[in-house]
Amino acid sequence: TKWVYKFGNGEAEGRAVDRELLGGKGANLAEMSSLGLPVPPGLTIIADACAAYFKQGSSIDDELKRQVLAGIEGIEAITGKKFGDGHRPLLLSVRSGARVSMPGMMDTVLNLGLNDETVHALGHDAGDARFAWDSYRRFIQMYSDVVMGLDNDVFEEILEDEKARLGYEYDTELTAGEWQHVVTLYKDVIEEELGQEFPQDPEVQLWGAVGSVFSSWKSARAVTYRQLHNIPDVWGTAVNVQAMVFGNLGNASATGVAFTRNPSTGERSLYGEFLVNAQGEDVVAGIRTPQSITEDGRISSGSDRPSMEKLMPEAFKEFSQICDRLEQHYRDMQDIEFTIERGKLWMLQTRSGKRSTRAAMKIAVDMVDEGVITEREAVLRIDPASLDQLLHPTIDPRVPREVIGTGLPASPGAATGEIVFTAEEAVVAEEEGRKVILLRVETSPEDIHGMHAAEGILTTRGGMTSHAAVVARGMGIPCVVGAGTMRIDLRNERLIGIGVTLEKGDIITIDGSAGQVLKGEVQMVQPELSGDFGRIMKWADSVRRMTVRTNADTPADARAARSFGAEGIGLCRTEHMFFEGERIHVMREMILAEDELGRRAALDKLLPIQRLDFTGLFNVMHGLPVTIRLLDPPLHEFLPKTEEEIADVAAAMGMEATALRQRVDALHEFNPMLGHRGCRLAISYPEIVEMQARAIFEAAVAAAHETGAAVVPEIMVPLVGLRSELDYVKDRIDAIARDVMNEAGMRIDYLVGTMIELPRAALRAHIIAEAAEFFSFGTNDLTQTTFGISRDDASAFIPTYQRKGIIEHDPFISLDFDGVGELIRIAAERGRRTRNDMKLGICGEHGGDPASIHFCEDIGLDYVSCSPFRVPIARLAAAQAVI
Ligand code: PEP
Ligand code: MG
Repeated sequence: TKWVYKFGNGEAEGRAVDRELLGGKGANLAEMSSLGLPVPPGLTIIADACAAYFKQGSSIDDELKRQVLAGIEGIEAITGKKFGDGHRPLLLSVRSGARVSMPGMMDTVLNLGLNDETVHALGHDAGDARFAWDSYRRFIQMYSDVVMGLDNDVFEEILEDEKARLGYEYDTELTAGEWQHVVTLYKDVIEEELGQEFPQDPEVQLWGAVGSVFSSWKSARAVTYRQLHNIPDVWGTAVNVQAMVFGNLGNASATGVAFTRNPSTGERSLYGEFLVNAQGEDVVAGIRTPQSITEDGRISSGSDRPSMEKLMPEAFKEFSQICDRLEQHYRDMQDIEFTIERGKLWMLQTRSGKRSTRAAMKIAVDMVDEGVITEREAVLRIDPASLDQLLHPTIDPRVPREVIGTGLPASPGAATGEIVFTAEEAVVAEEEGRKVILLRVETSPEDIHGMHAAEGILTTRGGMTSHAAVVARGMGIPCVVGAGTMRIDLRNERLIGIGVTLEKGDIITIDGSAGQVLKGEVQMVQPELSGDFGRIMKWADSVRRMTVRTNADTPADARAARSFGAEGIGLCRTEHMFFEGERIHVMREMILAEDELGRRAALDKLLPIQRLDFTGLFNVMHGLPVTIRLLDPPLHEFLPKTEEEIADVAAAMGMEATALRQRVDALHEFNPMLGHRGCRLAISYPEIVEMQARAIFEAAVAAAHETGAAVVPEIMVPLVGLRSELDYVKDRIDAIARDVMNEAGMRIDYLVGTMIELPRAALRAHIIAEAAEFFSFGTNDLTQTTFGISRDDASAFIPTYQRKGIIEHDPFISLDFDGVGELIRIAAERGRRTRNDMKLGICGEHGGDPASIHFCEDIGLDYVSCSPFRVPIARLAAAQAVI
């Protein structure tokens, strides 16, 4: 096997495309070297060697050693220095380099090759003894920490003591002799703490460092980082061994980092910082304040310290030309590390730079205008999920965060307010003009008015499809759910978080994009749907195949969704229409009625309300398709719970409280999500369907008169498992349609379809399609029923599953392609076999998840439907899925 790839002197054995083999850093070093840019010569040990290293019980085999040493001979030939030499010693840097960058996660060793002998030679060669001793002590510090496992604090303490003894404030004040003394102290403490000497043999040092870089792939923080970012463990890291260049060789030397465009605004100007007479880690460590690279940057930051442009004009000129060249070459904004050694510029790294969403938009659009990339490429450059950042106010990324609790990021954006513990308090506060965050263990329909009134919602229980999460996303209100690290003490009206106890009225901020709860008020930045956003979305719309609809229950939601570009309603959850105000009482009367007569009385009250609701929706959507789902209330969400609520409802219904309590008890279900809901309710109580169908058709007539646009309602039956269920409900709908058409004297076109949200329905799709005119995949329930995991209880153990590597991601957030996805594929294929022009869509939460949207494109669904604020995300993801 070829384990080692060399680069340097205008040549390289690898290229930028070899990222999988060489890691990101190695591939780009090779690329820069073959472009003829000034790159210190070096070699890359391929990432596969990492797996081999672990397989051999964390040891480096002789063949790899042989290849590395041969590579080092190449470096020696180019530099004219020799590794371990007593006259002109070659020093090396040893750095990790995974396929994707994992900033700060893995280990680096600099100045390798120094020992008691070479330190003298280095001082002589450089003509600077102080520099040599300072480098040696840095090397000891880094190597002991990374390779030998001795904490850096030990060394910092020694250095602080020495400075105190000498009466110095800064490291820069130490002389060569004083650094030499520090080195002696360092070596002593290593012997004392570890019972072994600091290794003097450069080759021993080298294998120690290479092994440590490999091992750092399995460090706890790297493992966690990979889990958070879905990076496979099997990739391993490559290792880059490179000739050292020194930014700390006096005042004509420097080191720095730069972006070819501004990473927070996207503005086209070189942006970066550097430090004179410093080594790489000094920039990161933040001990000294770095200076701006450009003069413009210096002026705008108000610094009085000279820019690199002023201080080192020659090096600056060469550097900025190289930056332009790299950007043109890679056709993307670059994040670059460099060092200047005694006036000579060296390039140490380049990669695509991380950027804010706003910057990503601007850079992509500018690059299209500059003719660098195509419109399609621009569409691919934006991470759809990151659009969340643009559509809601968010926490200013520059301010520090005091996190007092964490949960699931249920609904994006950030909100600040006083904490309140009941929906009523939230409503009162809103009337008084105060901003509040509503805190609940979990929410239920009677909290809706309070949820509306609040700036943000925080629950300590529940998952991404819990009531609070779904409703908050629909409303576009920031929400954190399942914050299990916090406790609500309702009796004392207290919130107990990490290290704090807060009282009612105290201020918190929630970050619904990060799932964090912060203490106090935090600086925000407002959304800005600038021209760049509009242009990217237009390009996305021109390439995507699937339609994007929205899940909307009210005309207000529908209006918001249309402003975000929704092309129809894919799911109107009619039970949500009854969450508000007085309606919930009528709804409860209906559910709790003891007989059909009582139910019909309640339904008569609901009919005009529903008709008005639907007319509103049809009017807003103006001829666009609208899918209305028949009532699907998990009963537990609607039953009164406390004695107080029971008394209220009993009074409204003219019943005895005890009788009502008995009725509530009778309706109690052990497993409400698998209980008397969906079409089961419609079959038990067909009068409910009849009322809803009538409301829909009468609204269609009214809307057709009002807007002049023909309305074709799509009526959707939930939780169907058997064709006979659908037949029964469809017969009722058809009968009402005939009645209303006769009464109105006009024809109404409509479709009756079903949700596919049970495995049985998916498997029997070809039979169900004989009756159903469309399918919409209800992937929330389909995930729940396929996994047998309750969607309301999943948050109790899914995070543990993820942490332990049992599953990669929460299947309620991102579709499980293998299991749930297989059922969807089967149902789509079987459904279309029966009815080849059948419209297929998805309306579970996955309809707004980019990875799931890719899946929908791949299996040929016609549309995805998601909550209003996710519509732009879905438009972009649907476009990317076809490119
Ligand atoms: C679903 O189950 O995916 C769905 C959209 O319906 P609900 O979330 O209302 O159960
Ligand atoms: Mg469902």
